[in-house]
Amino acid sequence: MVTRLKERGITDTRLLAAMQKLPRQWFCPDTLLDTLLYDIDRAIAIDCGQTISKPYTVAWQTQLLELAPGMTVLEVGTGSGYQTAILCEMGARVYTVERQSVLFRKTKALLASLHYTARCFLGDCFNGLPEMKDFQYDRILVTCGAPMLPEGLMKMLKTGGLMVIPVGEEGNQKMCRVLKNGESPETWQIEELGDANFVPMLEGKNFE
Ligand code: SAH
Repeated sequence: MVTRLKERGITDTRLLAAMQKLPRQWFCPDTLLDTLLYDIDRAIAIDCGQTISKPYTVAWQTQLLELAPGMTVLEVGTGSGYQTAILCEMGARVYTVERQSVLFRKTKALLASLHYTARCFLGDCFNGLPEMKDFQYDRILVTCGAPMLPEGLMKMLKTGGLMVIPVGEEGNQKMCRVLKNGESPETWQIEELGDANFVPMLEGKNFE
C-alpha cells in the first residue's frame, strides 16, 4: 500500500510510516480480504451508511495538512477512527467529532482500547461544537463533503492555520485547502486541489 501511495505522489515520511504501521483491518468489517483492504482506491462501507475513506484519500488529505508533532487537530467525521489513529500516530493532539451516535460510541471505545488519546465528541460540527467554542486549532480536517465553506468552523482555526475540506454538492466536490490569514473571510486563501467524493456533511446529531 505504501509503495503505491509513494507512486501517486505521497512523500510525507511520517505519514507513510504511520500508514505502514497501522493495520487498516482494525477499523473495517472483519470479513474483508487483504486485497480489498489495502487497495488504495477503495472506500469501504462501515455502520450507518457511512464509509471509511480510500487510503489514497486519507493520505492526500493528511499530507495537505502539513502536520508537525504536537499540533492540535480537529477532525470532523470520526467514522471508523482510521484517520483519527493516523493523526495520533503522527504525534498530533486530536479532537474528533461524529454525528452518528452508533459510530461515536463504537469508535470511541475502539480508539481507547488501542490506547489512542484522541478526544471524541458526539455532535454536528458544521459550525463547530458549543462545548469547544473557546478553543482554536492548528489544523482542521473535514472528512465529509460540505455544501460550502462553513464559517463557524473557520472561527475554530488559529490564524496561520490550515483547513482541508471537500466542498460542493455530491458529484461536484472539490478538495480545498484554506489558509486563515486573519478573522475576516477576505483574508482567507482558498486553494482548489482536485475532485473529491465524500459522504455529505449533515446537520444535527443522529441519536439512532
Ligand atoms: N474519517 C472517517 C471518514 C468517515 S465518513 C474514517 O476514516 O473512517 C464521514 C463521517 O462524517 C461519517 O461518519 C458521518 O456520519 C460524519 N459526519 C457527517 N456530517 C457531520 C457533521 N455535521 N458533524 C460531524 N460528523 C459528521
